[in-house]
Amino acid sequence: MPKKPRRDVQRFVRKAALPKSKLLDQLSHASGQLYTQVLVAYWRILRKTGNGKNGRKPVFLSQYGMEALCPKDPDGLLHSHTCGAIVGNFYSSIKSANERKKKGDQKAKYPRRRKWYYKITWKSSGIRLKDSHLILSTGKSSENVILPWTHDLPDMVEIGWKKTGGYEVRAVYEAQAGHVLGNGVAAIDQGELRTATVYDGEKATIYSGRLARSKSRYRAKVIAKLDAKISKTGKGNGKQPSSRRRKKLIRAKRRMTRQIDHQIRDIQHKQSSHLVSTLYNQGVQTVVIGDIRDIRKSMQYGAKANQKLHGWSFGKFRQMVTYKSQRLGMQAVLMDEAYTSQTCPQCAARHKPRGRTYKCKCGYVCDRDAVGAINIRAKYLDSFGKPVVGVMAPPVRGVRFAPHFSRHLKLNTSRTPGL
Ligand SMILES: [Zn+2]
Repeated sequence: MPKKPRRDVQRFVRKAALPKSKLLDQLSHASGQLYTQVLVAYWRILRKTGNGKNGRKPVFLSQYGMEALCPKDPDGLLHSHTCGAIVGNFYSSIKSANERKKKGDQKAKYPRRRKWYYKITWKSSGIRLKDSHLILSTGKSSENVILPWTHDLPDMVEIGWKKTGGYEVRAVYEAQAGHVLGNGVAAIDQGELRTATVYDGEKATIYSGRLARSKSRYRAKVIAKLDAKISKTGKGNGKQPSSRRRKKLIRAKRRMTRQIDHQIRDIQHKQSSHLVSTLYNQGVQTVVIGDIRDIRKSMQYGAKANQKLHGWSFGKFRQMVTYKSQRLGMQAVLMDEAYTSQTCPQCAARHKPRGRTYKCKCGYVCDRDAVGAINIRAKYLDSFGKPVVGVMAPPVRGVRFAPHFSRHLKLNTSRTPGL
């Protein structure tokens, strides 16, 4: 069978922070020891052979030669394929320095520095997934590294020190080109007219915000009306209490706003549950939510729009989607929303849409909120703002709010856990 060319492979990296631990310290030191061994051996062999005496040619020890010379770390803490990866990393940095020098890059440097700690790499042979835990195999003299993991089995795992402190795990997934990268990733664009627009890579689904919006408008109206009445009643002073009518009105205002708030909350619960359980049943693992926390600060809207945005609580809905999806073992990620509503998914040109439909000069036509969700998802998959040839606008479907929607997550139990 012919080998598939490497360049057809697309990579997708999932990162997570890890606390500092004794085991990881030991392993990354073992990795550093082996790296240093390789580094010293490589340069020593070159130095001893390449001095021009006796007419000898310098020896650049090959990667295979090095693997035979330094097969494992001194304490035997690392998996044999982890050791192979360390040698491989050293050789790929030699290779990239060579390539950069060939192109005339003055700054290109060969690896020369010894390392006390070095990243630990696991190839697929050393990675197992069991009971929502990732088991990373090590050498005979060390216990395995075990991490909680609710996602798919990665093709490669790296654990390295983070500049800000602690460790970071980077799980690399490789997908064949043509295969949709980021299968299992859905993005949510929040809006005022539409509570949420979800894009899962194939289709866009819109959750209407009409009912919630009319409730919050009604709430504002009730408050204005009652406030006007309250202001006409006697406030009272130190000697005289405020009038009975005033007290009655204040109580009425509190009761009515509380009732409307409960209604709005109910709609948010029902819509977020419907949204999260639909994604879960589809096999989605990562929910990317457009981050609009700073919208009030960063954007200058007219007074009217400002009132709308304050009234309709984006934050509450985002929180609900986050905790509900996490409860089901999905990952919820916030993504900066900048320019996602203005950038064309096909040609990457940027312009502000007019009206509900996004139309681009290149011919791309799509629902405006769907474009936002498509771009938020692209940002997470690191393909945002890159032109794509012949991309199709996804079908857009609306989910109208129905009062009989369940507030509970409705799960299709046939779905395999952890996948
Ligand atoms: Zn375009």
